[in-house]
Amino acid sequence: MEHPCLRCGACCAYFRVAFHWSEAEGPSAGGVPFELTEKLDPHRLAMRGTHAAQPRCVALQGVVGEGVRCTIYTQRPSVCREVSSSWEFGAPSPQCDKARRAYGLPLLTAQDWPGASQPGIAAIQVGA
Ligand code: SF4
Ligand code: SF4
Repeated sequence: MEHPCLRCGACCAYFRVAFHWSEAEGPSAGGVPFELTEKLDPHRLAMRGTHAAQPRCVALQGVVGEGVRCTIYTQRPSVCREVSSSWEFGAPSPQCDKARRAYGLPLLTAQDWPGASQPGIAAIQVGA
């Protein structure tokens, strides 16, 4: 199953993506590439492109709602890791729903995650 995020990217082109400066690459290699960030205040950076009237992260490649990828996936900031897709882990995600709604994309449901029904099925089989 292709991950729904790979055909979406709405949250990467909707929210301001801000995080503590220490997450950016510098002394600690492997962090967010510094050149892809901009300074928000003395403590925080933002992904370039997301502190704008019409945000779009500079690291997002592709077309929202069709096919996208994060070009710094393994180095993305913690805030990006914390946004989950709706129902991937059994509950709706307000951020995911808000971003998808803004792009006119249908909200994800439990049916978009075939694996999510496995625990229920397993429980029925165990109890049978
Ligand atoms: S809006 Fe939801 S489905 Fe789209 S990329 Fe973000 S988390 Fe994934
Ligand atoms: S760093 Fe990657 S995951 Fe985070 S907003 Fe940008 S494109 Fe999306």
